[in-house]
Order: sequence, then C-alpha cells, then structure tokens
Amino acid sequence: MENKLDKIMDVALKRGFFWPSAENYSDKQAGFFDYGPNGRALKENIIRIWRKELVNKEGMIEIDGCQILPKSVFVASGHLTSFNDPLITCKKCKFKIRADQLIQERTKKEVPEKLSMDEYDKLIKKNKIKCPKCKSEFSKTGIWNLMFPLGIGTERKEAYLRGESCQSIFTSFPRIFKTSRKNLPFGIAQTGKVFRNEISPRQNLLRTREFNQAEIEVFFNPETENDFKLKETKLNFHIKNKVQRISVKEAVKKKIIISNLIAHYLVLLKEFHEKLGISEKEMRFRKLEDKDKPFYSKETWDFEVLTSTGWLELVACNHRSDYDLKGHGRISKQKLDVVDEKTGKRVLPNVFELSAGIDRILYALLELNYKEDKKNERTLFSFKPKLAPVFVAIFPLVNKEGMPKVAKEIFNQLNEEFDCFYDESGSIGRRYRRQDEIGTPFCITVDGQTLKDKTVTLRFRDDLKQIRVKITDLAKKLKDLKI
Ligand code: ATP
Repeated sequence: MENKLDKIMDVALKRGFFWPSAENYSDKQAGFFDYGPNGRALKENIIRIWRKELVNKEGMIEIDGCQILPKSVFVASGHLTSFNDPLITCKKCKFKIRADQLIQERTKKEVPEKLSMDEYDKLIKKNKIKCPKCKSEFSKTGIWNLMFPLGIGTERKEAYLRGESCQSIFTSFPRIFKTSRKNLPFGIAQTGKVFRNEISPRQNLLRTREFNQAEIEVFFNPETENDFKLKETKLNFHIKNKVQRISVKEAVKKKIIISNLIAHYLVLLKEFHEKLGISEKEMRFRKLEDKDKPFYSKETWDFEVLTSTGWLELVACNHRSDYDLKGHGRISKQKLDVVDEKTGKRVLPNVFELSAGIDRILYALLELNYKEDKKNERTLFSFKPKLAPVFVAIFPLVNKEGMPKVAKEIFNQLNEEFDCFYDESGSIGRRYRRQDEIGTPFCITVDGQTLKDKTVTLRFRDDLKQIRVKITDLAKKLKDLKI
C-alpha cells in the first residue's frame, strides 16, 4: 500500500504545492524544495495566522534579520561546536547516515539525540546493525556539524548560513530594547529561511536542508517569571512515556512546567494550532529528558501532532535561560543587561523560545485535511476557509452569452478582499473538481439565471450544497464564511 508521505508528495507535485528544487538537473541535491503557487499561498496563510494569534495578540515586535552571519555569532551561540548530529559511515561502500535515526528505525525504540559517540557504537554493536546498502560494518560514530560555511567577499571571510533564525534576534536585542520602548517581558519574532547540512534529508518536507521557521524569543526577568495569570486550560502532556491531561495551573503547581510564563505560551501555541484546524486529540506537548534537550535549554517542550509518521515535532519550546545573551555579551564584549522597570534592577534577560517549523506544519495540514470522497468521485483538502490557498473560485457556466463578462466583473470586485481564482476552461464539473483538489472552500458560478435576476450559485466544498446569492450580497456573505 502506498504510504501517506508518498501520497501527499504525489498530490503536492500534481497540484502545484511543492516539488524538488532544480528537479531537471542531474546534480540536484536532496533536501531542497520549491513551493509552487498553492504551497506558497498555504505557507503565507499559516504565517499570517501565526502573526495574528501569537505575535500581534501578545504585542510582540517582529524583525527580518540576515540569513548569513559572521563566524563570531556562531562562536557565541555555540553552534560551531555543539550543533551536531552523530554520523556513521559504511566501511565498504562509504554510505553515510545519522546513527540515532538508523538505530531507531531498526530497533523501533526511541533513541536519545544526545548520547555519547561510544553509546551509539554500543547500540549498533548490540543490535547487530549493518549498512542498509551493502550489509557491511559501520565505522565508529563521528560528529557531524550541521552549519553551512560560506566565504564572504574577495577575502572569503568565514561566515555561515543561519541554522536557526533566532541568532539575529539576540544580536539585535540591545538596539530593539533601546528603540522599541518595550519593557520586560516582551517577545521578538521572526520568520524566514534557515539552513542545516542534514546528513540524511528525507520524508519530503519533514527533514530538509533549507526550511522555514517562525520563531519567537520572549525576553524576561527570571524574578518575575511567575507573574503571568494563567487560564484553566487543560493540555495533553506527554512525560516519560505517560500521557496526562491536566490544567496548566496544576502542571505548574506540580512542577511539571517550570513557570507560569512557559505555561502561558504553551496555551497560546495550542490555541494557534486549533485556529489552523488541528484538533486537541491530535496534539500533545512532550517534555524532553535531559539527554534529548538541545545544548542551550533548561527545559524543553516539543509540540507534536499525530500524523502517519507517528507523533511529529512541529514546534520546539525552549527555556534558553540567559545562555544566549551571556554568550553574545562575552564574545562581542558588550554589556547586554538592561533595567527592568518593574523591579527597578538591572538584569540579564532570560529567554523562552517558540521555534516553529513552518514546512512541517504545512505538511501536517496537508495530511490531516486530505480526503478521498469515493461517493462523489473526488479528492479534496478540507482546509479551514482562511487557510485555503484559494478562498473562492469564480466561473462562467459556459463560455458565451455574456457569462464570462459578468464572472470577470465579480472576480475583479471580490479579488480586492479575498484570494480569488477565475477559470473558464473545461466542463463545470471538472472545474469544481480542480478546486476541491486544492481545497478551495467556495465556488461561484454565473449561469443563465444570473443574467435575468443578478444571482449566482455559491457552492460549498465540504457538503456540496449549492445556494443562490445576489451578486450585491456576495462580499458580505463570503466575509461571514471566512473563519
Ligand atoms: P529534529 O529533532 O526533528 O531534528 P530539532 O529539535 O533539531 O528537530 P529545532 O532545532 O528545535 O529542531 O527546530 C525547530 C523546528 O524546526 C522543529 O520543531 C521542526 O518543526 C523544524 N525543523 C527542524 N529541523 C528541520 C529540518 N531539517 N527540516 C524541516 N524542518 C525542520
């Protein structure tokens, strides 16, 4: 049976969501994808909802920093020494793979990401793991740094593509603090491309070498970390292989979550994903044990969603303490502490991070919304209307009798407010199917009756219901449907 990942890849290729970059060239590399028109629109809609539900709701500041940064930034951040994966190479055919991934695949048991090289070697030996290509033995586990080096200018000065988007937030922090008139706690957000030289990119968008992150770094005074008022919201926590559904208040009380500040942002993250149409039963917050946490984190929660690949990490939530500002202060020889107006004291801010992988969110939404409607011989994406790449498609029933003219007028009028698509090619049934296939929630058809009474057919994707609506009422009706 075709697996879901292959199915989504197939659908993505056919319907212009995404495809392998430079696909016609023999030296194309794995782990790079171009977004087509529908994928780009879906991605923009995810980011727009992220901005509304997290950045704007919390009064955060958003920046757009550089993707290439000098070496010192990554010395300060620790990425040149610690942003590593365990690499094994076949002694005979030289095939290379990530040790933890291969062991996990073979043993079907979770393998921590941060074991020592010796521990990986022991697991490979114990489970008699051989090269999947030629069945020979692997060499000892080595360290693979994920950063992409670059040479800048004629002197080829050492620099790197950023491996996570947040470092320019940290380097910009003093200027933002001075110019924004914000006081602690406050968030700085950023979306953009990041680059990792992954050993084994795979599973289409899930592990690539160039991908999109939407990151939020909340700067706060640890003395007032518990000053956040919490709601009674319950979350699904996954701790040491056990699931607990309890309120965030209780979770803080039981010291499952380190502080009210973190609990507050975990709730917002859940609400954001609900706005994308992901249901509570499909999501969980997994607390990472020390051996799995990133090198800079005091407490990590992975926000995960259930897909055909298992529980998939979409967002990493890290209590980064003062790790970043301390490191940047030391290497740049700048004082990065600030006055907290609330306490009147100087403090080196701590940071809580919500690091979302936009491509994984997009993949999860494709998978969770994909439907095969056998009865009506169609496939569709049941995206929430405000997420769909096209919000409303407009057709003339036939290409004559003045119908295209009226349909184009409607398109021009609605296109100012909504993402619209005009199509007059092929049978009306085919045009409806094409829109179902990319998840367009509404279609408008101009027909013979339109020319008599100025009404059109409004067709609904999910239940195939059709109603007549006056042209003059369309904009208001569609606005009410944009949820
Ligand atoms: P993983 O454990 O899966 O390698 P990570 O813990 O290294 O991920 P982070 O560095 O915390 O990931 O990055 C934040 C988010 O960026 C992840 O939750 C994920 O959604 C996304 N992400 C990370 N690596 C990749 C990748 N290679 N391709 C696509 N998205 C990624």
